[in-house]
Parts: sequence; structure tokens; C-alpha cells
Amino acid sequence: MNILELQNISKTYSIKTGFAQKTDFYAVQNINFSLQKGMCLGIVGESGCGKSTLAKMIVGLLNPNSGKILYKEQNISSFLFQPNAIQMVFQDPFSSLNPRQCIGKSISEPLLLTKQFSKKEVKEKTLAMLQEVGLNQEHFHRFPHEFSGGQRQRIAIARAIITKPELLICDEPVSALDASHQSQILNLLLDLKEKYQLSYVFISHNLQVVSFMCDEIAVMYAGEIIEQASKSELFQNPKHPYTKALISSAPQIGKKENTTPLQGEPPRLTAIHTACSFASRCPYVMEICKQQKPQKKQEKQHSISCHLYQ
Ligand code: SF4
Repeated sequence: MNILELQNISKTYSIKTGFAQKTDFYAVQNINFSLQKGMCLGIVGESGCGKSTLAKMIVGLLNPNSGKILYKEQNISSFLFQPNAIQMVFQDPFSSLNPRQCIGKSISEPLLLTKQFSKKEVKEKTLAMLQEVGLNQEHFHRFPHEFSGGQRQRIAIARAIITKPELLICDEPVSALDASHQSQILNLLLDLKEKYQLSYVFISHNLQVVSFMCDEIAVMYAGEIIEQASKSELFQNPKHPYTKALISSAPQIGKKENTTPLQGEPPRLTAIHTACSFASRCPYVMEICKQQKPQKKQEKQHSISCHLYQ
């Protein structure tokens, strides 16, 4: 069974563009994907491509303008938020924690919301969770500012999984950390996924991080998924020019001098695409690319939207 399914999800934002004038920008356009239980889907793309907007819609922090988000075949807009269903880990653990609340209270809050446990049980579960994420029980009464960035992300993860959710949305969970803390947090997330049979939507601009964590990868550009495949297929056989550019611009150990930076900026879209949104940056652009939006083509488990493959 799919634990999560997105059907034709779109989201626009109104932005002031002049005196008494507002313009609608598409953050996300017609997103479709599904996630099976126990799997990790990576969503990768440059900043501003709509990844975080998508994450916020899945956890209910934003409403889509159109489309459906199904959690276990149920529309998430039609059921009351359940702390043991979907939880989120944010990019910046410091701003996701209350600076005036000791971390024990912050971690136990979602558990109290379930109203299933006594105060004694909540405290016991919180102390156990501190150990589970690599902290000490003595940390219970300390405050967020007393911890390092890596420790704060451990606290945020403890808070997210204390209710044993089935689906965790991780929005750039390691991008604010240094390299050594990044690998520790990624390994912790993998261990927890295995132990609790969690399913992840893992959002990152970093291809290396996504390839370490994910079973399947969706590449986003200007609010759309332009290519999606299993991790091995995407890295061995990338097809879309944007995916190829992302892979060749990603630093690799020992090969940093060989990377090719991606030139230009993604467009901000004020209407549904009528052409390929990558056309202004694409080295293979053809006349048809500026006139017609490429349709999504599915070949086995590999989908791609590009006129080169139509
Ligand atoms: Fe490049 Fe055309 Fe493919 Fe767009 S549709 S990525 S412009 S070749």
C-alpha cells in the first residue's frame, strides 16, 4: 500500500509587485508521486524550486490550491492531524525548538497531545528517546542554546519520532550542519528508519546526501518534477539535461576540480508552463522546447519530461 500519494498538487503565492498590484507565482505545479511504506523518496533541486513548499503541504502547514494529498488512501485535508501519522524535521533545529523550554518538555509535547499516556509514562518515554538519539538523560532539563547544532538536530528528531509516526518529512535536515555532524545525523536517521519501519520524504539540494539516504529520487525544477527514477537508475542513466547538470555540478570526493557549475537562475513562473521551463539554461534547447511544454514520458520505472525523449 502507498503510505503517501500526491495527485496533481499545485500551489501559488500572491506577491506584491507594485502599488496596489499583486502577481500570483506558481511555487509548485501538478506534482504527482507515491511512496510505499518503508521507502525513502528523495526530492532534489536548487533552492527556490518548490521543495519546501511541497514538504509543508504534506504535513498540513500549507494548503494546496488544487490536487489531493492522500495518507494511506485518505485525504489529509479530511482527517484531524494525528501526531503518530506524519511528523517533520526542519532545516534549522534552533528555530524549531522553543528557546524558553527545556528540551525534555519540547520532546514530550507531541506525546502529551496524543492523551494516551500518564505524565510518568511520558517522562519515561522521553528519557528513553534522549538515549535513542545519542543524548543523555541528564540533558532533559537543559535548554536548546546549551547544545551544538548537531545535538539540536538530534533533539528535533527525538521530538519528531517520539509518537512513532509512520511517515517523516525531512526538509534539508543536515544542510545547516558541518560535514562530521551531517554524517552522524544521516546515520541516525537511517538507523531509526530501519528500527521503526519509517517511511521518509527526504528533501535536499545536495545530491550526495540524497543518494546516501534514498531508494528513489525525484528531481524538481521550477515547481515541477522533471525526472524520477530509482537511485541507481538516476545516477547511472540520467536523462534530463537538468539532472545531468546537477550531477556534474555536485562536488565528489577527490574530483572537486572536475565539477561544472550550473549557470543561470531558475525562472519564477506566473502561469502554468506552456514551454519547457529549463529552456533558457539548456544546452540542447530546440525550437519546440520554447513552444510546447514536454509531456511526462514513463519508461519502466523511469519518468522524464523532455522533448529529447518524446
Ligand atoms: Fe532542454 Fe528542450 Fe529538454 Fe527542455 S525540453 S530540457 S529545453 S531539450
